[in-house]
Formats: sequence, C-alpha cells, structure tokens
Amino acid sequence: MADLRDMYQEVILEHAKSPRNYRTLASSARKAEGFNPLCGDRCTIYLDLKGDVIEDIAFQGNGCAISRASASMLTQALKGKTAAEAEKLFESFHRMVTGQSPNGGRASLGKLEVFAGVSEFPARVKCATLAWHTFEAALHGEQEPVTTE
Ligand code: ZN
Repeated sequence: MADLRDMYQEVILEHAKSPRNYRTLASSARKAEGFNPLCGDRCTIYLDLKGDVIEDIAFQGNGCAISRASASMLTQALKGKTAAEAEKLFESFHRMVTGQSPNGGRASLGKLEVFAGVSEFPARVKCATLAWHTFEAALHGEQEPVTTE
C-alpha cells in the first residue's frame, strides 16, 4: 500500500510540475474563476463546448501541488466528454475525495484515483475540488468567481 501511495504522489507531483493544457482558449470560450482562500489556490478554467461535448478545455492559475495536479488531470479527463458525463465524473470524484465512497462507484474515475488519499486530509479536499467547482461554473456560465468557502 505504501508503494501505491508513493506512485500516486509521484503522479500528482509530476502533473503539478508540468501541468497539461495549461493555457488560455480563444475569447469565445466559456471561462470561470475559482479561489480557495483556505490554501490560496487560484484557478481559471476555459471551456469550449460544441453542442453538448467538451471540445477543448484548459486552465491557468497557481496554488499548491494538489490543486494544480487536480486541474491538470481534470482537463485530461474531461476533454471529449459530454456535459452530462462530466457532471457524473465530478460526482464520483467528490464522493471519493470526501471519503463517502471509498470502494464503490469509483470504477470510472481511472487516473483520477490518485486523489483517493486526499480523503484522509479534509483540509486538502478543497484543493482537489477547486478546479471541478470552477469547471461547473464555466459550464453553467456563472459570472461570479467561485470560492470554496
Ligand atoms: Zn491547495
């Protein structure tokens, strides 16, 4: 189990160091900003929808390793998904990091399972979910910045 945890941590640190899809999208894209005052994490999500499909997604921001890695892996996980699939994924992810579903309902999370250990650190849950809440805001076209508080 310790080995598995080390591997998870490696994946998180690697994404934090070299985040994927770290860029902006054209001005026509949907955009939302998120802030986690508890840790100081900031995140902007850019979203390009074609019909109901997430054609492109990108982020920018700064914060702790978990928040950056989570945003990076979110963009990878959601690209090509429909809005409904994305919401479902967020639900599963949220259940996992809040420890509500340690075993079941996680099959579809794939690589995102590296964040399972976050459930042991309640203060870190907001770091891991900031990008997801921000994504939701972008999806629903909310203008107010998202805050985890
Ligand atoms: Zn953080």
